[in-house]
Amino acid sequence: MRDERYYGIDVGGTSVKIGLFEGGRLTKKWSVPTDISDGGSHILQDIAASLPGPADGAALAVPGAVLPDGTVNRCVNLNWGVCRPGEDFTALTGIPCRVLNDANAAALGEQRMGGGSGYESVLFVALGTGVGAGIVLDGKVRAGAHGAAGELGHLCWDPEDAAAPCTCGRQGCLEQYCSATGIVRLAAQAGIEGLTCKQLVDGAAAGDARLEAVVDQACDVLGWGIAGACAAVDPETVVLGGGVAQAGEYFRAKVQAAFDRYAFHACVGTRIRLATLGSDAGMIGAAIFAQG
Ligand SMILES: [Zn+2]
Repeated sequence: MRDERYYGIDVGGTSVKIGLFEGGRLTKKWSVPTDISDGGSHILQDIAASLPGPADGAALAVPGAVLPDGTVNRCVNLNWGVCRPGEDFTALTGIPCRVLNDANAAALGEQRMGGGSGYESVLFVALGTGVGAGIVLDGKVRAGAHGAAGELGHLCWDPEDAAAPCTCGRQGCLEQYCSATGIVRLAAQAGIEGLTCKQLVDGAAAGDARLEAVVDQACDVLGWGIAGACAAVDPETVVLGGGVAQAGEYFRAKVQAAFDRYAFHACVGTRIRLATLGSDAGMIGAAIFAQG
């Protein structure tokens, strides 16, 4: 066990982050560009060619739904349809390989080694271009029957909001209000143009009341969504990750306040924490998942 080697592989739409873990420690990390040409058929070959040797196991974290048997049900960002990339990876490398969703991988990484360490049940919510989430219960990541456990980003907040079309085909989904993209969209609706999400949140934290109203609106929707998820799975703690959460305590406290307004009384006060692993969370979580 002490000398075992595992690869954690986080396959993103522009680059693949790879970590080698030896004896439970991250000893090397690197990345390769993601080549999505030809139906994404070069991605696994490029990863395999970059590996510095054999290993006892690997796991691929992918941006799509992963069924319990390892079947991936489409990764639009990778040009993958329904496929079984774990088996393809093993055929290329001889290394046993598991597959999980990237937000679930990040949830597992944060639960074991990041903002949720010390807790066995964690809801992880990542705010980036979209909103991804993952659920760890009793120390195990729970992907659900359809690989959709934790899909908070597509909870419908306002089905009548025609100004908030979503990539999933509906409108008014949570991620249209509280992802980085969603916050910028809310600002534009309020007549505030040309600022990035970080600039909007920093400006609000510095006391700009118009910007703060936008951030409050985003945090209200997010708090509602997290309260709903907590009513279903009642985790010990919630970890907020992704670029927006790097806004820090100012943002965290607003999400906590909104959560406490919406949460079932027994869940009120469930602590919302900030992630600590940054963009390594998925790669680290994949390496943990590879170990079974
Ligand atoms: Zn949606």
